Amino acid sequence: KLKRQITNFNRILDRYEIIKTLGDGNFAVVKQAKLKNTDHEYAIKIIDKSKMKGKENMIENEIHIMKSCNHPNIVKLHEEFETKDEVYLITDLVKGGDLFDAISQSVKFNERDSACMIQDICEALFYLHSKNIVHRDLKPENLLVMRKKDDRISIKLADFGLAMEVKDAIYTVCGTPTYVAPEILSEIGYGLEVDMWACGVITYILLCGFPPFRSLDRNQDELFQYIQAGEFEFLMPYWEGISESSKDLINHLLVVDKKKRWKAVDVLCHPWIITQGNSKPLPP
Ligand code: ADP
Ligand code: MG
Repeated sequence: KLKRQITNFNRILDRYEIIKTLGDGNFAVVKQAKLKNTDHEYAIKIIDKSKMKGKENMIENEIHIMKSCNHPNIVKLHEEFETKDEVYLITDLVKGGDLFDAISQSVKFNERDSACMIQDICEALFYLHSKNIVHRDLKPENLLVMRKKDDRISIKLADFGLAMEVKDAIYTVCGTPTYVAPEILSEIGYGLEVDMWACGVITYILLCGFPPFRSLDRNQDELFQYIQAGEFEFLMPYWEGISESSKDLINHLLVVDKKKRWKAVDVLCHPWIITQGNSKPLPP
């Protein structure tokens, strides 16, 4: 159950001027807003409580995890409100939209931009995983894009709706088919490693424009068989001219055995990230 005081919606409108809709997902609509009498802009995630009946603890969980995080590549939660019907999360505004839309516009990215994005994602994952938090819903829709002054792309991780602290092996089957790790499907118990699998899928998509595991006739059983077998290829001619180094990184992430799969720190130390990404100090 939610423990917060119920606010009247008008009190939120007294404080924020709503500007436009930025996006939506399964349970929420996200709006751009301005804190009145200031130049500060925010994103407001409005969660429909009626769609979360019986799953109220998920909202509490999302808030609790976001509040515990402080990292440049993770969207910050500034304050939250609850009305009779909705929960309002006031977060950092990320103006470039999400990576799903960016991929739809560009189809694929060059190696420099891809490496910078994967580096940012892995900086965020290194931080989360060292706190034993698994995101469980890494996909382009939940990655927000910032275009920096030098025209480089930077990423902030959003949507902590499925995130949780890992205590024991998790068995709940959740996520999105294209990005789901084999150990989630085989129900042998999973943990932090599922985020690194999703990161491998995202790296592949960024570089060639389509996912590594696909079924021709949208047959989900077939898709899940390919994932559990770890069966993918760097399909020609689409991968022509793309570096062996990037493929080497993907080959270390799309590894069925979760114990052998690379961790965020391994990615941050890989030559492809070091040479193509932003020069940043290596993690300890
Ligand atoms: P859901 O839990 O319903 O999936 P998300 O938190 O993923 O909700 O937000 C839905 C969409 O709203 C995202 O895919 C993205 O396009 C947009 N969005 C979310 N947060 C922000 C933000 N802080 N800045 C800009 N756009 C955002
Ligand atoms: Mg989402």
